[in-house]
Amino acid sequence: MKVAVLGAKGRMGAETVAAIESASDLTLSSALDLGDSLDQLIKTGTEVIVDFTHPDAVMKNLEFAITNGIHVVVGTTGFDDKKLSELKNLLSKNTKVGALIAPNFGLGAVLMMQFSQKAAQYFESVEIIELHHANKVDAPSGTAIRTAELITDARKQSKKGAMPDASKTIIPGARGAKVGDVPIHSVRSHGYVAHQEVIFGDAGETLSIRHDSINRAGFMPGVLIGVRNVAKHPGLTVGLENYMEGMK
Ligand code: NAP
Repeated sequence: MKVAVLGAKGRMGAETVAAIESASDLTLSSALDLGDSLDQLIKTGTEVIVDFTHPDAVMKNLEFAITNGIHVVVGTTGFDDKKLSELKNLLSKNTKVGALIAPNFGLGAVLMMQFSQKAAQYFESVEIIELHHANKVDAPSGTAIRTAELITDARKQSKKGAMPDASKTIIPGARGAKVGDVPIHSVRSHGYVAHQEVIFGDAGETLSIRHDSINRAGFMPGVLIGVRNVAKHPGLTVGLENYMEGMK
C-alpha cells in the first residue's frame, strides 16, 4: 500500500515516516510538509495519507485527498462538530473513501477512554487532568475532549445528576474548562509528552485511570492499524477503537 505523510517534518510526522519505512507491507510514497504541492500525492499514486499537520491546515489536505479518492488517517486534532460535518459532506461525494479521525493513536490511551466510559456509570464525580509538552497549540487536548464526551454520554445513560461542587469560583478558570459534564484541567510544561489522568470519586473511594505516552513511537502501532484498515471502512470513523474490535 502506498502511503504519504503530511506534516512529515513535524514531531509526529517524522515518527510516522520512520514507522512506514520500516513496515514491509507499506511503501512511503511521499513525505510532504508546509509549502509542498499536494499534486505529489497524485503523481506518486498514493492510496492513503496520514495527516499530522495543524488544525488550521488539515481540512484543505483532506479535501484534496478525498476528492482524489485517497483514504485519510488523521491524527491532527481540533475536530469540532463543524469540521466533522464538513468532512461528512466531502465523503458523501466520494463514498468509497475511508476517513479515520483518531484523537489518540495510543492503544493504551484508547483503553483509558473505554475504561473511563465504563467507570463513569458508577461514580458521582469525575474530572480530567491532561498534561502535555509546552509546544502543543490546542487546549484542552483532543483526547481529553473525547474522553469528556464519552463520560458525559455514559452519565446520561445512567441518569447521573449534576456533580457535587460547593465551590464559589474566586479566579475564573480555577475549576477548569467544562466539556459536557466534565471539568478538564490542562497543564502545559516542558518535560511532558502526552499524559492524562481521569479521576473518579464517590462516597469513601476514588479511582484514578492514568495513561502516559512516554515517547512518540508509542503512537505508531495505532497509526499503522489505522493505515492498514482505513480502506476497509468507507465513510467517517471517529476513534481508533472502531478498528480495534476483535483485535488480539
Ligand atoms: P508539529 O511538530 O508542529 O508538526 C506539524 C508539521 O506539519 C510541521 O512540520 C508543520 O510545518 C507542518 N505543516 C503545517 N501546515 C502544513 C500543511 N498545510 N501541509 C503540510 N504540512 C504542514 O506538531 P506535532 O506535535 O507533530 O503534532 C501534529 C498534530 O498532531 C497536532 O494537531 C497534535 O495535536 C496532533 N497529535 C495527535 C496525536 C494523536 O494520537 N492523534 C498525537 C500527538 C499529536 P511548520 O512547522 O513549518 O508549520
